[in-house]
Amino acid sequence: MPSGLITIAQARELVLQSTRPLAPPELIEVDHALDRVLAQDVAAAGDVPPFPCSAMDGYAVTAGPAGRVLTVFGESRAGAPSERPVENGQATRISTGAAIPPGASAVIPQENVEVRDGTITTTAPVREGEHVRHAGEDIPAGTTVLAAGSRLRAAELGAAVASGLGRVLVARRPRVQVLCTGDELRPPGEPLGPGEIHNSNALMLVALAARCGAVAPAAGRLPDDRAATVEALAAALDHADVTIVSGGVSVGPHDHVKPALAQLQVEEVFWGVSLQPGKPTWFGVRDDRLVFGLPGNPVSAFVTFTLFASHALAALQGTTVAPALEPEAILAMAVHRHNREQAVRVKLERRDGAVVAVPNGPQGSHIITSLLGADALALIPPGSGEMPAGASVALEPLPG
Ligand code: AMP
Ligand code: MG
Repeated sequence: MPSGLITIAQARELVLQSTRPLAPPELIEVDHALDRVLAQDVAAAGDVPPFPCSAMDGYAVTAGPAGRVLTVFGESRAGAPSERPVENGQATRISTGAAIPPGASAVIPQENVEVRDGTITTTAPVREGEHVRHAGEDIPAGTTVLAAGSRLRAAELGAAVASGLGRVLVARRPRVQVLCTGDELRPPGEPLGPGEIHNSNALMLVALAARCGAVAPAAGRLPDDRAATVEALAAALDHADVTIVSGGVSVGPHDHVKPALAQLQVEEVFWGVSLQPGKPTWFGVRDDRLVFGLPGNPVSAFVTFTLFASHALAALQGTTVAPALEPEAILAMAVHRHNREQAVRVKLERRDGAVVAVPNGPQGSHIITSLLGADALALIPPGSGEMPAGASVALEPLPG
């Protein structure tokens, strides 16, 4: 590893050591809880289902053989239970999800009866408890349904509501301010003057932050100027839990981010990771505020956000980045090693039962198309020569 640089794992560890869950958590309505992270375990307020109910449209009956003739009394519908007890020789019409009336111990589906003049004749035997969903069969009251640290997606919200919750205690969303440095940057869609490029990192980093559960307003754009950089960083440090600066973090004469952060008493935790792309990544803290200085090349910015900032945003919300579905894969083709660890954008394919990582085209740090359709980052350990096709590589998930 080149001297003065730390590994990806060391850098991530330093980021996590500097990151505490944001306090205090917030009690919010479930209606607004999509993608939020639970701050405490959720226990079911009541049984799910709350009462014994029918799994079929049919008749609530007692158990018995085929060929019984039963008199039909009343109906138990979803939301309108029948109070009338069902006795031997009787049946009550029932729909799926409706409460089992007192006295009934099973449901016979309507396709297993012949209906005639207010009676049914059973054409199949009925076992005790058949087609009855028991109270608490899915979730007994008081049991833990969702653990602290769970991200509330559609399924979790459904389970929380079924469990009787109207409000949930969730982590506060981290406030992220993205700042893009560079005299050459133009807003989306504007015509380019000589030497200018479009500011792709602004939208990309804000989108990544949002995907990681942060509140991220539009990115600020900074000229390559010391005073302007200090001013914008000072404002960001005032309101943002995490400031993410793109570009200007190297050692060129127009790179003002490091000296500006030093002037603002942001303490450097590391600068320089043995990583390709993403070597000049900078990370520092001021009190509980985190600052990431990401290299300006769009792919470097995306990769370093993924490897470091996404983990900080998860930790601020009291959770961790969900691991890749596949922790490793087989390289589809040989990859030239680098003296730094490489984060290769790959597509994953299944071939003969094995998960294969196919490098997603040219891998230069300016090749933004290498991100399109990529499924993961494959980490190629540093070294010389080639990592051969068929070698096993670790995978890192991509945000969102
Ligand atoms: P820097 O890290 O400032 O030296 O920038 C490295 C490269 O990334 C240069 O080619 C910059 O023009 C490019 N770059 C910097 N910021 C952005 C941005 N926000 N969007 C797209 N490219 C950028
Ligand atoms: Mg620059």
